[in-house]
Amino acid sequence: MDIPRIFNITESAHRIHNPFTPEKFDMLGEALRLEPGTRILDLGSGSGEMLCTWARDYGIRGTGIDLSPLFTRQAQCRATELGVSEQLSFIHGDAAGHVSDERVGVAACVGATWIGGGVAGTVGLLARSLASGGIILIGEPFWQHRPPSDEVARGCLAGAVSDFLELPALIASFDAIGYDVVEMVLADQNGWDRYEAAKWLTMRRWLDANPADPLAKEVRDMLSSEPKRYATYTREYLGWGVFALMAR
Ligand code: SAH
Repeated sequence: MDIPRIFNITESAHRIHNPFTPEKFDMLGEALRLEPGTRILDLGSGSGEMLCTWARDYGIRGTGIDLSPLFTRQAQCRATELGVSEQLSFIHGDAAGHVSDERVGVAACVGATWIGGGVAGTVGLLARSLASGGIILIGEPFWQHRPPSDEVARGCLAGAVSDFLELPALIASFDAIGYDVVEMVLADQNGWDRYEAAKWLTMRRWLDANPADPLAKEVRDMLSSEPKRYATYTREYLGWGVFALMAR
């Protein structure tokens, strides 16, 4: 059970697999006024940076589930490195349909809402693990500027313009399913550059080390085209943020 190998190659050196920086996760943790001992469930926890740093800085406890064995191992190593492995567990597995045994104070899915079949489905899934009065965190892209055509949307690696909403409509969509938006922290272009541009050096080093790999041609083509594609499309049109929700 694994994610497509290309992501394990291009994002192998990432600690954060989305356009957030360490500063943004810190800002979010602070904004949520996390109490020591708060339990957090994180579906699609990646390399675990959010849970590990919040365990260190705010004393939270938590469980992360991720489909990538590589990212899960990296999360476990990071927890050990930060001295918080007693507070956290990182499990390799499919998070689709996952409900925790014990109710949590914060239930998160940060940049992986396909796990619940979209934003509304993921909010519904997370709600099943949430203690009353708890907070749901959703990390999701939105259109910073609406693309003029589906062709431009595809340049942003979306399937169509209709795949994402603009920020006011995304916020309204949470209201429409019965949730108050109680906080939000948005990524900026520097964060996007960290997420996207960090892949390029990783790809280049991987290519130099693995010239005969079956994926070498695909990675070569990506490295040749991605910087321009990113600068033309994603960097222009796509926003990203984490939204904190409480049921009304
Ligand atoms: N929340 C993390 C990772 C976001 S990237 C962070 O902020 O860094 C999306 C993550 O979802 C990847 O780590 C990928 O391995 C994971 N993923 C994809 N499909 C999944 C599934 N069905 N169940 C669990 N994790 C999944």
